[in-house]
Amino acid sequence: MKVRDIQEFMEAWAPPDIAWERDNVGLQTGDPGTRLRGILVALDVTEGIAREAIRRGANLIVSHHPLLFRPLRTVTNGTPRERCLAALIRKGVALYSAHTNLDFTRDGTSFALADALGVTVEGFLKSPFTLEDKIVTFVPPSHADRVASAMAEAGGGRIGEYENCSFRTAGRGTFRGTGTSHPAIGRKGVLEEVEEVRLEMAAPRRTVGKVVRAMIGAHPYEEVAYDVYPLENTSAEYGMGTIGSLRRSVTLRQFLATVRSALGAPALRWTGDPRSSVQKVALCGGSGSDLLPDAVRSGADVFVTADVRYHTYQEAEGTIALVDAGHYETEIPVVASVVARLRREIQSRGERIPVRAASQSTNPVRGHM
Ligand SMILES: [Zn+2]
Repeated sequence: MKVRDIQEFMEAWAPPDIAWERDNVGLQTGDPGTRLRGILVALDVTEGIAREAIRRGANLIVSHHPLLFRPLRTVTNGTPRERCLAALIRKGVALYSAHTNLDFTRDGTSFALADALGVTVEGFLKSPFTLEDKIVTFVPPSHADRVASAMAEAGGGRIGEYENCSFRTAGRGTFRGTGTSHPAIGRKGVLEEVEEVRLEMAAPRRTVGKVVRAMIGAHPYEEVAYDVYPLENTSAEYGMGTIGSLRRSVTLRQFLATVRSALGAPALRWTGDPRSSVQKVALCGGSGSDLLPDAVRSGADVFVTADVRYHTYQEAEGTIALVDAGHYETEIPVVASVVARLRREIQSRGERIPVRAASQSTNPVRGHM
């Protein structure tokens, strides 16, 4: 297996095009064609993590937070980030980062957090993703099947468990070829009116280019008329945060104790009535404060996230219990999820490449008791 195989596997799970626009996800260092010797999975990439990867014989680090986020202007060993980057390149360690795309996918960061807290997930807290386009082309009835199959093979026409989904409407198309045209139907210079099928098929936005190329390749016309429409449909596969339930209701005080011990949090910051009962739980690993209105709307008893500001506690007071369990603490459970997934994938391919979670904490935040 090569670095590229892990990249493709990760991207099928957490497609880069669902990441935030300003994010920087994907392969950050290394050659996709490198044969894998070992994988280290970590939340952050630090000099310590780079050293651990090298010491444990891993030549790929899969991280959540990208090392290269803000642009680097120099690589002169002047900062820890520069030293880390230089060490990875010098030692031939590839780095792959799945950040907000891992946050926004099923079984991603917030699902792992739910799992760690014993919350049975019902779905995303917010599903704002519009990830599909509709491709429409006009094709002679004799070629409609061929064009539709080519588009489906390139990744179009999948709706849930159904493949080759398309829609066809019969109609009449008109065209007149110029003197230098080579029309597949009719003659150049003559206004033609022909039977055509309006063939439409949806495709994930990331595959639209491929589907359009396949459509053009299978189409008999010299100049293919087609439209690509952005769709506003939201996807059930991607979203922000999660909502779910505890097996039985507990008091907020008991729930806080569970959160603290399950996540190894040195302290929690929270607001709410400690005697109130908690069963429905909204969660967002990392900085999820902006989802507070969604958590309230969902009817959750408590919202667990991190990086909560003072005024957000004020907003929550009297409406929903709000818990800040720490950025690192609410995201670290995803490392074990990534390790488990990668192990399953590698095993299913009959390979024996060790995948390990980093043994050190990269949390720069400490609590003082
Ligand atoms: Zn984070």
